[in-house]
Amino acid sequence: MIKIKLNRQENTVNLAASLAEELASIEVIPIIKNNEIILDDSSLGKTLSIEEALPFIRRSLEKSKTKYRCIYVKGETIYVEDVESGEKVSEPPLLFCPFCGYATQYEEVYWIHVKSHGVI
Ligand SMILES: [Zn+2]
Repeated sequence: MIKIKLNRQENTVNLAASLAEELASIEVIPIIKNNEIILDDSSLGKTLSIEEALPFIRRSLEKSKTKYRCIYVKGETIYVEDVESGEKVSEPPLLFCPFCGYATQYEEVYWIHVKSHGVI
């Protein structure tokens, strides 16, 4: 199952609450465990992919007004580099390639790039 890791606990709680609303329509339940959010897709009937989950996560981050510098994916875990609410971040936040550090704000471009490494 997909895990989401943030730096700050209050942001983890806020994101989980926002994700619960966003994901209700596809019957995926966010669970907080050891300061991480786990997306429980056991009622979905199939495995939720990172690619499917990412738009929900970005939308939920926006809705919960969580400020973050970037998002990157490593295996089954999505890392959100969240920052303190007063800190300045680039708009819109970037998606980072975990393999080479390439950055883009466009999800489609991001996936084409990450897949070009041939690992997912
Ligand atoms: Zn790369």
